Amino acid sequence: MALIVQKYGGTSVGSIERIRNVARRCLAAQREGNDVVVIVSAMSGETNRLLGLAHSVTPIPDAREMDAIAATGEQVCAALTALAIHNEGGRARSLLGHQIKVVTDDAFTKARIKTIDGSKIFATLKNGEIAVVAGFQGVDRDGNITTLGRGGSDTSAVAIAAAIKADACEIYTDVDGVYTTDPTICPSARKIDKISFEEMLELASLGAKVLQIRSVEIAMKYEVPVHVRSAFSDVPGTWVTNEDSSLEEVVVAGVAYEKNDARVHIVGIDDRPGVVADLFGQIAEKNISVDMIIQSATTESRANVTFTVPKTDLARAKPFLEEIGKALGAREVRYDEDVVKVSIVGLGMRSHAGVAAKAFRFLANEGINIQAISTSEIKISCLIAAKYTELAVRALHDGFGLHRAKGCTP
Ligand code: ADP
Ligand code: ASP
Ligand code: MG
Repeated sequence: MALIVQKYGGTSVGSIERIRNVARRCLAAQREGNDVVVIVSAMSGETNRLLGLAHSVTPIPDAREMDAIAATGEQVCAALTALAIHNEGGRARSLLGHQIKVVTDDAFTKARIKTIDGSKIFATLKNGEIAVVAGFQGVDRDGNITTLGRGGSDTSAVAIAAAIKADACEIYTDVDGVYTTDPTICPSARKIDKISFEEMLELASLGAKVLQIRSVEIAMKYEVPVHVRSAFSDVPGTWVTNEDSSLEEVVVAGVAYEKNDARVHIVGIDDRPGVVADLFGQIAEKNISVDMIIQSATTESRANVTFTVPKTDLARAKPFLEEIGKALGAREVRYDEDVVKVSIVGLGMRSHAGVAAKAFRFLANEGINIQAISTSEIKISCLIAAKYTELAVRALHDGFGLHRAKGCTP
């Protein structure tokens, strides 16, 4: 007998028929003798619909109210799932974030979990019921409803699995595992049987939305074994585990892309010490994360600064970027939302030279211009025009041999 956490994403609960499928699957796990905790997302499209409603009332909605609206998607789905289990002859109870005390900080729309009290879940299981928990949501210390950022139900699942010391955390989704790149845009993508926490963390942070980045951080910290698999079949998926030395042999393990980046170009600011510190200090104060940064000096003591911010923060950022720009003597502030960041990731990059040059060559061969670059020990990212996303992903994926069985050494 094991204690199992199963998480079902939006597509897996996208219709009443699919919710019935989920009910049958978790009942099957319970009938095998396991205690089962199910975490559900909102039905697919529902979170976008709810956030769209908020934006239709006011262009920059208050974050606290947005969370109160967005959390209802998971509330409805958890109760529907409990009803579907009842309808199959089983016993289940829905539980919301505030009911099981998923306590978070108060960073609305991107809250972080501080503590989880497992006692309500254990009481439910002891009663012979399946605990159906609404993912994505929590409550801050003042009782305000919070949400954990897009894709946050993954984090709910892994954090709950850690809190109740579950034997496994199964993430059921619309693909049957973690692939070498997004299989929906690259037909030659291959399923990976086992991936290290570190590589998964990097892929997730660079846009591979199959797991939310926070969920991987928590899995790594608390050593929660995570199994990503299909909600529609029984084939084994991908295990996300501690680093395995055999993975080091693969130089590039995966390719990811991020569409939620926008490029900001500030033209002609003063070129003197402290200017860039002022600029990014003020952006940080507004809680906006900056990713790629390029500074280039021009003639006459002026400099241009280019950087990326999340598209979702751009509307909020624009007024004060204009203001700071002016204060620093900028001639103009430009924005480009038609960009995408493509990245290659691999632990093996640590010990191989020339990987970046190869990546740039693969993009150049397709006539793709690189607008910005950033690198770390185990990743290389390039900002390109959004229209080349699929072409770039495929060129990097197949260029590094990921379509073949074991990757390749460049
Ligand atoms: P869910 O609603 O189940 O949480 P998501 O849409 O959030 O599902 O995540 C699954 C999607 O992640 C897949 O449909 C796929 O398009 C995308 N994806 C991106 N990168 C990868 C990858 N490397 N492996 C698998 N899926 C990926
Ligand atoms: N429903 C939320 C979203 O769409 C959370 C999730 O699906 O994990 O982002
Ligand atoms: Mg998701």
